[in-house]
Amino acid sequence: MRLLLVEDEKRMAQALCEILRLEKYEVDHFDNGLNGLAAIESGIYDIAILDVMLPDMNGFEIAKQARIKGIVTPILMLTAKSELDDKVIGLDSGADDYLTKPFMTKELLARLRALGRRTLGKADGILSFGDITLDINTLTLTCITNSQSVRLSEKEYHILEYLIANSGQILTREQLAMKIWGFDSDSEYNNVEVYMSFTRKKLAFVEAKTEIKAVRGIGYEMRFENV
Ligand code: CA
Repeated sequence: MRLLLVEDEKRMAQALCEILRLEKYEVDHFDNGLNGLAAIESGIYDIAILDVMLPDMNGFEIAKQARIKGIVTPILMLTAKSELDDKVIGLDSGADDYLTKPFMTKELLARLRALGRRTLGKADGILSFGDITLDINTLTLTCITNSQSVRLSEKEYHILEYLIANSGQILTREQLAMKIWGFDSDSEYNNVEVYMSFTRKKLAFVEAKTEIKAVRGIGYEMRFENV
């Protein structure tokens, strides 16, 4: 899962990034509202965590603008104030949840898991497509017809997760690079090809019929043909 964090307090942001990365989230951090808004509007994030008080535009405004542009990314607002009014404004602005500072790490992680499940539409931590399942917690790929399984690297896992979430659509190399390597990624697009080939080898290893098809000149698509 790729998270967007918009938080201007350096120490807070650093601490959050560390905690979230330990929990296997990919995190991109921005310290101001304008960059944060541009980032959420890219649509590549699974969850956005927005601080309310930012130097330029506030978190509510970011949420509002993003929703106007049709961005459905779940938003968790961080507010330093506990006033009910703030919470009400937060939810009106298109935020899905809020957390009052200071908060417990456990609480934050629980909220994120809940929002993440909403994104994936899955409550049990298992994603499935065709004849494969992915376990979100153990990063395990399993072929359901023969019960063979293999552990995925984080990148391989994110590639499959993203393809499954967008099954029926072709994802471009640019979209994959942004999603897997980040908004500010300067990684070469051939990274995508290299990791695609690793991921395909894992699918072949468990003898899955689900395949990642390359669509020449466009990108990749997940397919399952049960023949
Ligand atoms: Ca702040």
